[in-house]
Amino acid sequence: MIEEQLNRRNQKLIECMIGAGTLKTSKVIEAFMKIPRHRFVTEEYRDSAYDDVALPTLKGSTISQPSTVAMMTEALEPQEGDTILEIGAGSGWQACVLASCIGETGKIIAIEIDESVTDFAKSNVSRFKFKNIEIVCGDGSVGYEAEAPFDKIIYTAAVPSVPEVVFKQLKIGGKIVAPIGDFFEQTLTIIHKVSEKKTREKYLGLFAFVPLRGKFGFQ
Ligand code: SAH
Repeated sequence: MIEEQLNRRNQKLIECMIGAGTLKTSKVIEAFMKIPRHRFVTEEYRDSAYDDVALPTLKGSTISQPSTVAMMTEALEPQEGDTILEIGAGSGWQACVLASCIGETGKIIAIEIDESVTDFAKSNVSRFKFKNIEIVCGDGSVGYEAEAPFDKIIYTAAVPSVPEVVFKQLKIGGKIVAPIGDFFEQTLTIIHKVSEKKTREKYLGLFAFVPLRGKFGFQ
């Protein structure tokens, strides 16, 4: 499929997600238009980039389903100037969508545990002119102390629970969006950090994400 056809499919999918109420905010809609998903999938899946399904990329990593990325981005409510940690950089698509929403005064730190997947994310992201994204290789299950505190944290891999060490890296008033549950099924959860001890939670439904590895992951 040629670039033009892929862009047209992207436009169609965006319209569907707006119609369904999954995409709502103009900033997020604009990000979906500017950061086409077909640039973040492997060659063999290019023509499927606008099917609303997760697609395999490298080494058990996946690129999340478009409607899930839309839902999580809207739930995170990225604002101009936010500093956001993404745990599970994968293809780098979610990082670029967020970077587009927060503008040049904000910063996205996306951490990825697998070295070759980190290189994949870096090379995908480098084709866009973002100065506000840093992709790092490491175990994101412990967060990323070096750049803490964050306004927001997004997990794009399933996590059994959010450990204290990560919760501490979130500013008071900040929020975490994470699929929390067991290996097979998770509840997409929004955690508002009301105070150092108090949280308020909202639930967005059941999902099946790639499991988080590392110290506070599943393996
Ligand atoms: N957000 C990605 C999709 C991520 S899939 C995108 O936009 O394409 C989940 C990713 O989390 C996988 O690439 C997996 O390798 C990574 N991962 C798993 N455990 C991790 C950990 N402890 N720290 C960082 N990344 C991890």
